[in-house]
Amino acid sequence: MSIQDELKRNKEPESSTGLMPVLFLAHGSPMNAIEDNEFSYGWKNAAKSIEKPSAILCISAHWETRGTHITAMERPTTIHDFGGFPEELYMVQYPAPGNPGLAKEIKGIFSLTEADLDEKRGLDHGCWSVVKQMYPEADIPVLQLSLDYYADARRHYELAAELAVLRKKGVLIIGSGNMVHNLGMAEWAKLNDTYGFDWALEAGEKMKKFILSGDHGQLLNYRSVGKSFDLAIPTPEHYLPMLYVLSLQDKNDRVSLFNDKTVGGSISMTCIRIDSD
Ligand code: ZN
Repeated sequence: MSIQDELKRNKEPESSTGLMPVLFLAHGSPMNAIEDNEFSYGWKNAAKSIEKPSAILCISAHWETRGTHITAMERPTTIHDFGGFPEELYMVQYPAPGNPGLAKEIKGIFSLTEADLDEKRGLDHGCWSVVKQMYPEADIPVLQLSLDYYADARRHYELAAELAVLRKKGVLIIGSGNMVHNLGMAEWAKLNDTYGFDWALEAGEKMKKFILSGDHGQLLNYRSVGKSFDLAIPTPEHYLPMLYVLSLQDKNDRVSLFNDKTVGGSISMTCIRIDSD
């Protein structure tokens, strides 16, 4: 990108082609929902340079179901799906509206699956911790799409591709997870410290190389890449939201990274932004 383009991009919200950007946001610790730190700053900054969405569709690591579900209520509640954090975090409410009509429309878009509309579930912290930082006014409808626990990576990637039409309708699609995410090996007392174990950095570097070169095949076959990937992805739920985002990448889109740090040894905060030119 030239300096002129960079300046222009910083000044003007983007949507010259009418295609909304797509974001993969690494949410990390739930405390990022209420802390002003470099990561929440990065999310806010992304929001500032994107035209106000008509709705947000979030694919969060924290909603796994049998089959694909879509939240479809008028007023989703705020779910505090974590334990052992300060009281302040349990007090957070994110009262964004839902959009049952859009939920129905998304159900209709899928040809590969019969998605279920869910009228009870609220928004989990994978969703609200990032969206609240980006849009604190809570005035944009927010929907969630679940991860089918029984689907493999390729199936998720194919389901995601069907959502491409939403980019033309002003819907901001956000995958929320962490591409390197091994909580069992994380050093909890050092979650605010920026450093990574060798395997975590190695996996992160490989993933970024595949992302930036568009080599999604390697990312879909993540169990065949090697030991660093096995350690980085002990379970796939934080990794899969990234595949939704990459699947929505059009051939003319630009891919960029931000918040590119590793914390606590084993959690990558690297975020991905896909923009149409
Ligand atoms: Zn998480």
